[in-house]
Amino acid sequence: MSKPRAELGERREYFDYSKGRFRSRVKVAEGYWMRMNCARADVAAAEGWEAIEGKVVHHVDGNRYNDEADNLVAVTPDEHRRLHAGMPRRRSK
Ligand SMILES: [Zn+2]
Repeated sequence: MSKPRAELGERREYFDYSKGRFRSRVKVAEGYWMRMNCARADVAAAEGWEAIEGKVVHHVDGNRYNDEADNLVAVTPDEHRRLHAGMPRRRSK
């Protein structure tokens, strides 16, 4: 008996109780699932993995619970620091 295999890129959401929010598990290779924020998985699904490689997914409005496509942008860590330098201090990403 074998379970149907998950396709590469298949995504499953799960509730992360320690963070109090949903996160995604994405199958990136055979036998390897990567956990990431849903926002990150959204951008990867829309723009490809290259779009998020080495990048941080930033929430434009500062609300990390707002995972609407137009609120997400992939930026380098440097750009990300700059973006947050101009924002009110909040625990946001
Ligand atoms: Zn940010």
